[in-house]
Parts: sequence; C-alpha cells; structure tokens
Amino acid sequence: MASPESIRAQAAPAILAWYDRHRRDLPWRAPPGESADPYRVWLSEIMLQQTTAAAVKPYFRDFVSRWPDVGLLAKAAGEEVMRAWAGLGYYSRARNLHACAKIIAGPLKGVFPSTEAALRRLPGIGPYTAAAIAAIAFGQRAAAIDGNVIRVLARLYAIAAPLPAARSEIKARAESLVPAKRPGDFAQALMDLGAMVCTPKSPCCGLCPLQAFCLGHASGRPERFPCKVPPLPRPLRRGAAFYVRRADGAVLVRTRPEKGLLGGMTELPGSSWERDYDPALGLKQAPVEASYRKLGQEIDHVFTHFALRLEVHVAEVAASQRAPDGCRFVAARDLGKEAFPSVMRKVIEAVRRSSGAG
Ligand code: SF4
Repeated sequence: MASPESIRAQAAPAILAWYDRHRRDLPWRAPPGESADPYRVWLSEIMLQQTTAAAVKPYFRDFVSRWPDVGLLAKAAGEEVMRAWAGLGYYSRARNLHACAKIIAGPLKGVFPSTEAALRRLPGIGPYTAAAIAAIAFGQRAAAIDGNVIRVLARLYAIAAPLPAARSEIKARAESLVPAKRPGDFAQALMDLGAMVCTPKSPCCGLCPLQAFCLGHASGRPERFPCKVPPLPRPLRRGAAFYVRRADGAVLVRTRPEKGLLGGMTELPGSSWERDYDPALGLKQAPVEASYRKLGQEIDHVFTHFALRLEVHVAEVAASQRAPDGCRFVAARDLGKEAFPSVMRKVIEAVRRSSGAG
C-alpha cells in the first residue's frame, strides 16, 4: 500500500506525462509549450462553472469571435452579453463577467491580476476560478479544486470522511501535489483525468496513470469515494406563466429584476414561485384581462436549490392591446433575440407545440 509521501512523489510526474499524450483539445487551451491568454482562460473558467466543456465550446467560440479581447467585451452593452449567454444557465455569471471585464479594462488598464488573492477580489471569481486562472494563465503554484479534482483526490488517498467535511483534507492533499514546474498543465491534467478516466460512476483504472499507487483502486471499490452524506430532496415550487399573444403575433414579456435568480433575463409574465402556490389563484395574477386557456402540460425545470413546476395560461388579445406597466410586447421575429433563460424557452416551446397556438 502506497504511503502519502510516495503518492506525493509520484503523482505529479505521472499525471503530467499522461497529459502530454492524452490532453483534451479544447478551444480555450494554448497549444503545448505556449503561454495561455489570460482573457481566454478567464472567460472559459467562468463559463465552465457548473457547466460541461461540451456545452461551453460553442458559447466560448461565439464570445471570442464577438469580443476578441477584454476591452471589447467591457464596451459591449449588458443586454447583448446576456443575450449571447442565454441558454448557458447560471446567469449571474454573465453579469459578473461583464462587471469584471469593465474593471479589468478600466481601473486595471487591461491587465489581469496574476495572483489568487488579487483575482478573488474581482466579481464572479471564487477560490476555484482564481486558482485555475493563476495556475493556467500565470504559472502560479495554485491548486484549483473542483468536483473532478475532489473525486480524483478522494480516490487517490481513499479519504473516508464524507463531503463536505473532507474538503479541508482534500484541499491540503491537492496543494501538496501541485508541482513547482508546469502548475497550469497539472491543473488541466487533473481536470482531464477526472473528466475522461476517473469518472464518477465507473473509473477506468486500467487507463489511469495513478493506478499503481492509488489507494482507492487498491481498496477494490474506488467508485465509493468521495463519500457523501445523502442530499436532502429538492423542494418543489410552483407558479403560473402567461403566454399572451397579440393578433399581430407579438408576445408579452418582461425583464426580471437585476438582482436575484435569473436577474436581468427576459421572462413571460407570471406569478411568484412558491412552495404553497395556490392554483385557484393563478389566473388572478394574469397580466392583462383576456380569455385564457390552460396548456395541457405543466413545465418542469430544476434549479440548483429547488425544482419548479409551472402551469401555463395562453391567451390571444387584440392587436390594439397595450402592455401593462413593467411589460412589453416583442414582435414574433424578435423573440429569438431576447435573453430567455432555459425555463422560459421550455414554456415557449411547449406553447408553440400545442394546438391552437403558434
Ligand atoms: Fe481514479 Fe482509478 Fe485512477 Fe484511482 S486508479 S485515480 S480510482 S481512475
């Protein structure tokens, strides 16, 4: 059985040698041996928060083609950035991204900070993202600890304490592994290993460069690490959404408040989302008087902290209908340009599929 000291001595060289042969080709990565562009590293790391590399790729390409550097992103209109982000989820990231770009392009004169501590002072940059940027873009000896890294480290050392209590031990182990040379490649190698080899349900230990000294593998059941306390079930909130279409095809929408869940995004008017939502009161919250029909299906969506079920009411109104305060009609051809979050896209899609609405 390998000792922690022997694991520490062997892990980084083994992971880096594996990375040189098997690294993923991702659009934000610098070619081997070249320095990474801090703008691309920062942009990709913000997009990758809670999101897979596959989902991020098209958004990353779109962003760097619209805004090739941080100065151009800082000059973009906030709504334009939100629209470009629409569909990627966790929209506070887009607001923070834009706020951060303005600080870097303005007070920081276009220069990204290079240390974890300075990076963490910027909007939207937490401990993981600061460490990842410091290591990848600036070659700092920083340990970027995300879900992938937690899994690999918990298995490598067969850490029996459950999460989240085990975090401090995992952090200490991870920090002790980061090599003085190539810390950025080491961070990306651990990410790749977690994504491609040491996967959550069935780790491919036979392909893993750490197998010879991995304590989780030696235990015979590596997949049981990291140990977790069972999560509490997500609470269900309910609410109503109203799809009001004018005779000329325009649809009634409004913009959510800047702060809070889905801040600044576009939505169909609706009720608040409550655990004890009363369907009998749903129609009383309709934005305009009209003859509503209820959509045959409810729309389910899962947020991080709760599940949402929306009933949808659909109405046709006259072309002369005015939008109530806080709402606006958007022409059908312009709906696609609105920054609808995924839940609202689901509602609109369901209405379009239903008979009698289009
Ligand atoms: Fe994960 Fe298996 Fe590699 Fe250990 S040997 S790090 S359990 S893939």
